[in-house]
Amino acid sequence: MKVLLVFAHPEPRSLNGALRDVAVKELQAQGHEVRVSDLYADGWKSEIDRADFPSLAADARLMPVAASRNAFGTDTLTDDVKAEIEKLLWADVLILQFPLWWFSMPAILKGWVDRVFAFGFAYGVGEHSDKRWGDRYGEGTLVGKRAMLIVTAGGWEAHYASRGVNGPIDDLLFPINHGILYYPGYDVLPPFVTYSVDRLDEAGFEPVAESLRARMRTLETTPPIPYRRQNGGDYHIPSMQLRPELGEAVAAGFALHVQDETAAG
Ligand code: FAD
Repeated sequence: MKVLLVFAHPEPRSLNGALRDVAVKELQAQGHEVRVSDLYADGWKSEIDRADFPSLAADARLMPVAASRNAFGTDTLTDDVKAEIEKLLWADVLILQFPLWWFSMPAILKGWVDRVFAFGFAYGVGEHSDKRWGDRYGEGTLVGKRAMLIVTAGGWEAHYASRGVNGPIDDLLFPINHGILYYPGYDVLPPFVTYSVDRLDEAGFEPVAESLRARMRTLETTPPIPYRRQNGGDYHIPSMQLRPELGEAVAAGFALHVQDETAAG
C-alpha cells in the first residue's frame, strides 16, 4: 500500500519524532511505500489568506469558500496545496500524527486541513438537493481509502475514559475522525493514542513502540470505526437528523453517529 504520514511536531528528537520513525520503519518493512509531510520542517503555511488564491482580483472581497471552489475548479490553488492534494490522491492510507494540544491538533495541522481540504475536493462534492446532501460521510473523493490518527497525550488514560474529567477520547477526536476524515470518504481506523507521555522514560518507550508496530502491521485489516453513512438510509434527508428509531441505546452525543450493535452489519 501507499501510505502518507502527515507529521506535526516541531522537534525531530521528540517522542513524536521517535514514534514517527518507528511507524515509517515498520511500514517499509511490510513493503509499503511511505511518504511523509513534515509540516514544521517544511515551513507549512497554516493560515488561509489572500495569498492562497493568486487568481483573486486585488480589489475583490475574499470569501474563502467561493475562492476555494474557484481555485480548485480552475486549478489555481498554490503549489504547496496542490502537492498535498496529489499526495492524498496517491495514498491508500493517510496517517495524521500529532501531540494533543489543548484537546485538539496543533494549529499547523489544522491549517494543513483548512488549506488542503479544498471545496470540490474534500467538501462541496456531489449533488446537493432536497434528495441528497452531497457525497460526504462515507462517500466523497477519498472513498475507498483508510485513515488513522497517531496521538500522544500528557493526560492519564483514566482521565479520558467515558466518565473521565477530560471527556472521552473518542468524543474529543470525533471532530477530526468524523468531521475531517470520514467527511470526504475515508474509512477511519481506531486511533493509536499514548497517554501520560510526559512521564515516559526509555523503558516505557519500547512497549509503546511495539504496540505501534503492531498497528502498522494491521493497517489493511483493522476494522474501521462503523460510522453511519449519510446516504445509507439512517438519516432523514434533507434535515440530516438520525431517524428516531435509531441510536436509542445512546440517546445523544457523538456516539449516535456510530452504528450500534443491533444496526451494524
Ligand atoms: P516529548 O516532550 O518529546 O517527550 C515526552 C517524554 O517521552 C520525555 O520524557 C522523553 O524523554 C520521553 N521519551 C521516551 N523515549 C523517548 C524517545 N525514544 N525519544 C524521545 N523521547 C522519549 N496533554 C493532554 O493530555 N491534553 C491537552 O489538551 C494538552 N494540551 C497541551 C497543549 C500544549 C500547548 C502543550 C505544549 C502540551 C499539551 N499537552 C496536553 C501535553 C502534550 O500532549 C504532550 O506534551 C505531548 O503529547 C508529548 O509529546 P512530545 O512528542 O512533545 O514528547
